[in-house]
Amino acid sequence: MRTGHSHLFIPGPTNIPEPVRQAMNVPMQDMRAADFGDLTLGLFADMKSVLRTEKGRVMFFPGSGTGAWEAAITNTLSPGDKVLMARHGQFSSLWVEMAKRLGLDVVVVDVPWGAGTPVKEFSRLLGQDREDAIKAVFVTHNETATGVTSDIAAVRRALDENFHDALLFVDGVSSVGSLDFRMDEWEVDLIVTGSQKGLMLPAGLGILGVSEKALEASRSARSRRAYFEFDDMLKMNADGYFPYTPPTQLFHGLRKSLDRIRAEGLEQVIARHHRLAEGVRRGVAAWELSLVAEHHTLYSDTVSAIRVPADVDARDVLRIAYADFNTSFGSGLGPLAGKVFRIGHLGDLNDGMCLAALSIAEMALYRAGVPIRLGSGVGAAQAWYATQADLRPMLR
Ligand code: PLP
Repeated sequence: MRTGHSHLFIPGPTNIPEPVRQAMNVPMQDMRAADFGDLTLGLFADMKSVLRTEKGRVMFFPGSGTGAWEAAITNTLSPGDKVLMARHGQFSSLWVEMAKRLGLDVVVVDVPWGAGTPVKEFSRLLGQDREDAIKAVFVTHNETATGVTSDIAAVRRALDENFHDALLFVDGVSSVGSLDFRMDEWEVDLIVTGSQKGLMLPAGLGILGVSEKALEASRSARSRRAYFEFDDMLKMNADGYFPYTPPTQLFHGLRKSLDRIRAEGLEQVIARHHRLAEGVRRGVAAWELSLVAEHHTLYSDTVSAIRVPADVDARDVLRIAYADFNTSFGSGLGPLAGKVFRIGHLGDLNDGMCLAALSIAEMALYRAGVPIRLGSGVGAAQAWYATQADLRPMLR
């Protein structure tokens, strides 16, 4: 028998705010009713604000981030097309794998897990590509496995400086709605995300922002696609409908999430994620443990991947946290299994929750044999949070 409630500090699915959960508790409704657009049309408009696009189109596919990856590729590229991608973590590696399976000719740049998108190498390869053979450049904005955020604006500059016309694809699964992302300013052609992270919903929506240039590419792209066909989706979306049964409960939840993001203010949401992440990082530094991210400019404000000492198995830390403290942290993925545990700090989160995460992590680390001083990480984070300006003056 477990008492109290459990703690979810994984980098998605994230905690669902109670009003969002309640908003989804509605009867089923007719997705062909005359007034269905009253629910859906506003979602397209408000999702555009979160993506910071006026020119782009938003699409919601029933599915997850992985489905949205596939939709982006199959709608805009053809088998045999050359694309440029980097592998620097589990998710960027899986996207490479998918691109290969879908028949693309992938130029892969491998960099250490913990590094960001290799912009200089991308720039060199784009500069060499005088024939514009590379049709698309893919970037994982936030590599959730390593806690590394890459510089999308720098990739845009690399494309522009080389007068290169490739499409820019961005995986924003663990960044959109939490980190600074600017679809129009960075001229992103396809931004892909899911419902279960910054948008604080259950998994179930694969969300895309699609530029005019990407739509143009979709008219001649020859990859086989059926369920994820942009054209079918856009035709039906014009009046707020969908080409197949949409997850209406998720739309009600999304309505509430987008309202909450607007009420807090997107800028404040991004600032809050930074403030919370910084407290977690100060805690980790006080434990004298290191992050997987190679450099402070790469630190992710949504997830921290923390290395444990070589003689400790990080899986023990995860097991103890779950069994003894009713708490989930993120596991080390792929080659980081056993070496790393992750603290997800995104979505519906506050200072107190981060302090709880650090406090429980300290106890789990201690029991797993890591020689840390209990309270040291919590104290360092408290010292940070206590001196930060309250970003929510209306609650004072
Ligand atoms: N990309 C990134 C950066 C992710 O973190 C994830 C999932 O955690 C995915 C893609 C895959 O998304 P999904 O699990 O929603 O299919």
